[in-house]
Amino acid sequence: MTEAKESASRVKRFFWRIETARKITQFLSIILFNAGLFGVGSWPILLPVMYTLGIQQKTVGDAFAMLQWMLHDLVFPWLPLASFLLVAVFLGRALCGWVCPFGLVQDLLGYVKKKRMELSMRTHDLLVNVKYVILGIILLISVTLALSLATGVIQGYKAALGALAPAPFSALSPADTLFAVLPTMVSALGNTSLDALAAGILVVRPLLWARLAIMVTILVLAVYIPRSWCKYLCPHGAALAFLNRFSFLGLKRDPLKCTKAGCRTCVEVCPMYVPILDLPWEKFTDPECIYCLKCADACTTKAIKPKFP
Ligand code: SF4
Ligand code: SF4
Repeated sequence: MTEAKESASRVKRFFWRIETARKITQFLSIILFNAGLFGVGSWPILLPVMYTLGIQQKTVGDAFAMLQWMLHDLVFPWLPLASFLLVAVFLGRALCGWVCPFGLVQDLLGYVKKKRMELSMRTHDLLVNVKYVILGIILLISVTLALSLATGVIQGYKAALGALAPAPFSALSPADTLFAVLPTMVSALGNTSLDALAAGILVVRPLLWARLAIMVTILVLAVYIPRSWCKYLCPHGAALAFLNRFSFLGLKRDPLKCTKAGCRTCVEVCPMYVPILDLPWEKFTDPECIYCLKCADACTTKAIKPKFP
């Protein structure tokens, strides 16, 4: 084969990879979410992905942030709940793999270090439960606050929660900090004199420091452990993981093509540590699977494919 033909086939192979399509979809999604920058108005759409309600240019809303705000405003959050249910039933956690802006940020950070930090399966199995605890705590705070505001019982509950009251998770969310707070700070810095900046740093609020510390920790973790936020901490991911097992979308592994013995390529590339080879081959919908299809891409015999329904 000539050199030109070899390069052409390399380019063709690159563009035919599912991973390339996924990256393009993730970048297009984040551009669409920020299409307000190009004068597009916001759309009446809520998605269960880690984004923010805190910026002007957004076109779609973050369902979990809206759920907290609606509970705080004593409105039943049927729209955010419908968004979670519909997406989970039809697509499972596929938006995590293909659309979520914070998922994209973690994927990009994953490229910084070639070798990932390995956790034992026992540690992983323990840590995956942390996100359900976080989801439970946030819902408990939001629901009890709504009940207290509606009934007038436990006066002072809202005051005790302070800045966390309207949206306890969003007030500390690393995605809100990254996509809304940080750009606002950077643009404010550009318009501030050095004296005012020094004075501002001295009086900067503890909540802001907490937000920044959480964001930096999560981003550094993502460099060492792929999708660590999604696997262990994300409350959106927890709600979707819970519903993922009932999803129409799943994966199947053709037992005639899969050489299983001696080959664990699919398991090794999976960023979510899904035990693919131990799951039913006809169809599997593991709570942690984000349908990134890295396993399907990596399988040399093309034994793994999406299955719907
Ligand atoms: S688990 Fe959370 S952060 Fe990760 S992709 Fe899903 S919604 Fe986004
Ligand atoms: S099982 Fe496959 S599709 Fe699911 S998260 Fe792992 S690599 Fe991605």
